[in-house]
Amino acid sequence: MYHHVKKLMYTVNVGTPDVRFGRMLLEQFGGPNGELAAAMQYTIQGWNCVDDLGRRDLLLDIGTEELSHLEVVGALIRMHLKPLKTEAEAAEADPLLSIVGGGGVALRNSAGNPWTADYLKITGELDVDLRSNIAAEARAKVVYERLIDHTEDPGSIDTLQFLMTREITHMKAFAAALETLEKKPFSVGRLAPTPVLVDEYLNASTGEGNEGDADTHGPWMAMNNLHPVEPHRDGGKGLSVERVKGIAGAEDRGKQDAAPKATTAAPTEELIGVRRLKRKAA
Ligand code: MN
Ligand code: MN
Repeated sequence: MYHHVKKLMYTVNVGTPDVRFGRMLLEQFGGPNGELAAAMQYTIQGWNCVDDLGRRDLLLDIGTEELSHLEVVGALIRMHLKPLKTEAEAAEADPLLSIVGGGGVALRNSAGNPWTADYLKITGELDVDLRSNIAAEARAKVVYERLIDHTEDPGSIDTLQFLMTREITHMKAFAAALETLEKKPFSVGRLAPTPVLVDEYLNASTGEGNEGDADTHGPWMAMNNLHPVEPHRDGGKGLSVERVKGIAGAEDRGKQDAAPKATTAAPTEELIGVRRLKRKAA
């Protein structure tokens, strides 16, 4: 059940309206990293999160706060777009917002493209969804900091600083929810990756670049059990695809299997993926 309270989560003040900036701000209203996308992504993940009712609550808490952010950023945008209603020159520069929308906010990004559900990352696998959300918060954060750089209006900066800060708060909560699942590092989903192959870093970009970019052997080739493998083209042995067989075992799923569940949760041992493992073992 939703209930609307007629009070903004954060007070919005704008000194001088700036239509150009209002249009840029639409990125956080109807864009891929915007507040509606965040609200819908977390809320629908939460409704689908039947295996862990504690983490469902987290998803619904943050999804609901994002809807309040949508209202705040929407208020900010409407203040900046106000001249579209009275100034012909401003209105003519943006017919989509002025003629179609009457100078109000629209579920469009800063280039006028309509919001789409394709923005949402919802997999139904809790650890994967949490990773998507951590990344989503990081993207929203940098969009806000770039927007802050495009206005001199103190009230706008104040509101954007609030919204930017809350993204990091959410990132902390999602990271804590993922960490406390106590899955092993790089344990994703239900099936284990193929041993040997999983630890091979393929040095697939070699030679010298036009800008002096060398074939770098960085720590990313040798950490987390990785080791570099040179490609056949350079006389290396390539990936071990001929030498190892992809025998999938079960992946460690962490504490979500022990969490309180909704009635629509399926028994873990009957899940697709897990079922296949049981057939193999029989
Ligand atoms: Mn937000
Ligand atoms: Mn957020």
